[in-house]
Parts: sequence; C-alpha cells; structure tokens
Amino acid sequence: AQGLSTKKLGRTICFYKETTTTNGCLREIALDGGDEGTIAVAERMTAGRGRRGRHWEAPAGSGIWMSILLRPNIFPSEASVLTLLAGLAVCQALEAETGLSPKIKWPNDILLNEKKLVGILTEMDCEMQQTHFVIVGIGINVNTTEFPEGLGDIATSLYLESGRTFSRKNILQRVLVNFESLYEEFIASHSSFAPFLFRYKEKCSTINQEVKVLGKETFFAQAVDITPEGELVVIRKDNGKQEVVFSGEVSIRGG
Ligand code: ADP
Repeated sequence: AQGLSTKKLGRTICFYKETTTTNGCLREIALDGGDEGTIAVAERMTAGRGRRGRHWEAPAGSGIWMSILLRPNIFPSEASVLTLLAGLAVCQALEAETGLSPKIKWPNDILLNEKKLVGILTEMDCEMQQTHFVIVGIGINVNTTEFPEGLGDIATSLYLESGRTFSRKNILQRVLVNFESLYEEFIASHSSFAPFLFRYKEKCSTINQEVKVLGKETFFAQAVDITPEGELVVIRKDNGKQEVVFSGEVSIRGG
C-alpha cells in the first residue's frame, strides 16, 4: 500500500490473481476475525455477483474488483446507507482522477453516459439488531476494451467513454481515501445519512427520471426525491400516489 494515506481502509490488502468473488473471500477473512478496513482485491473474478445472484463480469486486468470490510456499530437496517456512501466516494474519486462526470443511479450503480460503469454490492453478517460486519464490494470498469454479447449495450468503461487508459492504483487509492472520510463522518454523525443528502443528490441522476421499480411489486413511477434516510421517493404512474422505496428491496430500471 505504498503512497496510501488512509488510517484504516486498505492497511491490510489480500490480493488475488484470480478468485471467485472478492466479497466471498473477504467474508471468510471477516469470519476469521479480520480487522476493519481489510480489503480484498482481485485481478480477475470468475464468479462476480450482482444483487439477487446476478452475474458481474470481471475480466482480468481491466478493472478494479475489490471489497472492503467494515465493522460499524450500527443496526442492520442502517447498513444500506453504506452503499450510498460508497457510491458517493467512488463518484467523487472518478471525477477527480479522470475529469469525467459519472452519475449515481440510486442506490448502487454509477453510470457514465447512461451506461453502467460501476456496480456496488453490500452484504452483511448480522443477527437480530446487531451488525457483525459489512462487506462493501465495488466493481469499476476502468480500461475494459469490450464486454461480452448482451452487456455491450448497458455496460461501459472509463476507456470506452474517453479513449484514455487510467491507473487502477491511483483510482483505487482515491476511492479508499474518500470512502474512509465519508465513513468516519457517518459514524461521527451516529449513522445518519442526512449530512450527505445534498452531496448525494448533486451526483444522483435518478431524481426526475422515469423509473421502473422492481420489488415485491413492479410498477412505473417518476422519481422525485431522496429522503434524509437515503430512500427514494417516487410517484406511481398507475395511481398517482407517492411511495417511498427502500434500497434493499428494489432494482430500478431507467434513471
Ligand atoms: P442492478 O443494480 O441493475 O439491480 P446488479 O447490482 O444486480 O444490477 O448488477 C448485476 C448486473 O450488472 C448484471 O445483471 C449485468 O446486467 C450488469 N453487469 C454485469 N457485469 C457488469 C460490468 N462489468 N459492468 C457493468 N455492468 C455489468
């Protein structure tokens, strides 16, 4: 971790030339008592995951495939805010390192020119009202030159959008520095999302977009706001009613 200026995040790095999923590796490390801030990074993941078992394409050498271990003293219901904070940290890091302007698609993706550049998958180990640990997985398509059939229309990389290649190390370091600072602020504010609301909304493209909400029920809606708890406020197309959508429960199409 030469040149890394964080206090905790990335002080211990488990590096894999190839692995199934970094979230899975880090989970084992966490169960063995791994320290907060430990990260797992892989050159290539053979079984990268999205939410609900969806596949995450993570070819060798082209991206940043990493997971971060956190041990916050928070309720399990508060952990989804960490996904939002990771999104904000990555978005700010990419802006600073590349000069591009990616946007956050609530709750867990970052888009560039309406295509998916980053995916974030937060998983936790908890019982009742106690959180044992949280793993934040971050996949960033950096120098990827092509995607497999079918993904090409929805996925993109920094290289594909700008024609330039970028240092994965510099981006990774800046993500860790930014995320650590937001995480410390989050803990200091007693795990409230409210102090981040303005910053998050500024980078979020979902507000004012038409979205399809895929949850217990599927419906079309207009996204209108984000609450101080980090939930999405939408107005349903079918009945004009306002609803609050929780990030753990849904996928959004569009936005
Ligand atoms: P969503 O946030 O849309 O619900 P997930 O978080 O579950 O999606 O992420 C998995 C989805 O991301 C896959 O189904 C696929 O469409 C897309 N995907 C897979 N690999 C990549 C990649 N490297 N870059 C961008 N998108 C990808």
